[in-house]
Amino acid sequence: MKTILIVEDERKLASLLSDYLLQAGFETRMIEDGRDVVPHVRQTPPELILLDLMLPGRDGMEICKEIRTFSQVPIIMITARVEEIDRLLGLELGADDYICKPFSPREVVARVKTVLRRAGGEGPHQVAGLVLDPQRYLATLHGHELDLTAVEFKLLSILAAHPGRIYSRLQLMDRIYPDRRVVSDRTIDSHIKKLRRKIDAALPGADIIHSIYGAGYKLEV
Ligand code: CA
Repeated sequence: MKTILIVEDERKLASLLSDYLLQAGFETRMIEDGRDVVPHVRQTPPELILLDLMLPGRDGMEICKEIRTFSQVPIIMITARVEEIDRLLGLELGADDYICKPFSPREVVARVKTVLRRAGGEGPHQVAGLVLDPQRYLATLHGHELDLTAVEFKLLSILAAHPGRIYSRLQLMDRIYPDRRVVSDRTIDSHIKKLRRKIDAALPGADIIHSIYGAGYKLEV
């Protein structure tokens, strides 16, 4: 059973969310104080975190950033203002999705399921002809096996989690090297180059990774 950590100081809202998630077959835990989140996640990692932005003790942005230094657990950020989402996206906090209040609990459950599916925790993840099996680091494109290194596999998985979404080099670096090892932009470029070459070798003409000048990379199948 998958555990969802609900970080929300509005108790009624937190227990409403919890009820819906329990009904959908998840287990839940609830935290109200921002200061308790990181220690809790380190000690008992959940499968996904619903993280409210405005919390007593510590704000959600800081929490999200810190969690990303040691964990890739999926995080859905909850904010009270829709305008805030653009700002949050610009900050590249590493959250997997954003939900704006007021929301319907049903919608939250649906998003939780989608994000979990994308995170690929439950076996192969498929986008059109691309199949990624994180358990075995095995990637195939229309049945052709891509012979990838662990880093290349991770890069491809990140891009494939949101086809069409542009990831900056910084976002890709943060996700691949969560310990913030110092790597240069060029490192990402060279991994992408090799990845493209391998994709082309497996399936000539399959141009699925696109570079967007000045912005980053995206996957389009
Ligand atoms: Ca709040």
